[in-house]
Amino acid sequence: MENHISPLTTKKLKKKKQSSALEWVYPPNNWKTNFNRTFIYGFSNPQAKLFVASDEYLIPEKVKIFPNGNFAQVIKLPNVQNAIKLIQILNGKKKTISRNISIELNKQRKKQTKLSSSNKFTIQNPKSKMDSILTPKSSPLCIVIDPGHGGKEHGTHSPKGISESKYNLQIAKLLYKKLKSHRSKLKIKVFLTRTKDRFVSLKQRVNFAKRKKSNLLISIHHNALPDNLDPLRHRGIGVYYTYDNVKPLANTFLNSICKKSGLRHYGLFKRDFALTRPTFCAAILVECGFLIHPLEAEYIISKKTQAKIVHGIVNAIYLVIDESHLREK
Ligand SMILES: [Zn+2]
Repeated sequence: MENHISPLTTKKLKKKKQSSALEWVYPPNNWKTNFNRTFIYGFSNPQAKLFVASDEYLIPEKVKIFPNGNFAQVIKLPNVQNAIKLIQILNGKKKTISRNISIELNKQRKKQTKLSSSNKFTIQNPKSKMDSILTPKSSPLCIVIDPGHGGKEHGTHSPKGISESKYNLQIAKLLYKKLKSHRSKLKIKVFLTRTKDRFVSLKQRVNFAKRKKSNLLISIHHNALPDNLDPLRHRGIGVYYTYDNVKPLANTFLNSICKKSGLRHYGLFKRDFALTRPTFCAAILVECGFLIHPLEAEYIISKKTQAKIVHGIVNAIYLVIDESHLREK
């Protein structure tokens, strides 16, 4: 089919693609926020000048575009209801994108209630259970890798608008492959909760790990921020756990991934996530850097960095497993 396109058309298309290099990813249309400030992020031509304006108010600062074209900046919102515009000026040509942003002052946004009560798990003395997981007698060790989101659930986005779910899957698949290649050294079984870009509920993911008799559950994600925080101040690897007895294991993963990838420590966090809450195995959630950070985004989505992150995870697995899961030479 390409042969039928005249050189002129191809040229035109290319030109059009270049001039439309303005992608405003966050906030989305009709965004409601509890704050007087929010951040914007996306992708623009690095040579362009970028401004934010509303109908009656020009936001004074110019938006900084990084050399890779990514931008992320906190902006003050002037009114309760705003049509915010992003204005790109490139070679004297103006390109404008509008969004509706409304601020709900002094109103608490409803907490995300992704989990219904039926998704809750009863915690039966998690400590004693977890101790036996960290030094399991059973063999082989079962590791379940969970690539976050998928299908209709995109997660966060890169500045060019690519879904987090895609990168979660890339890292998870790479980890799966890597662990399989270690089967000559490790007595392990490895499973993925999804292998395609499809929707899998949180409950299905946990049930899958339970069915497989998982000893270690690793959920893979990329980080975003609440809409009032400065995106430039937050970078690095975050590891999340629910139970105190999983904390040392989570810390081993954090240190190992940072060491191998060169990414910063964002931190170790105790949270009640659906994928860290199971008591039948040790469960952690790894946020492989901030996809919204203008510089970090580009670094973490590269194949090279993804391989380093995976190296860090594999290295951590060797550090936390029982000797009984090593094959004798
Ligand atoms: Zn996520």
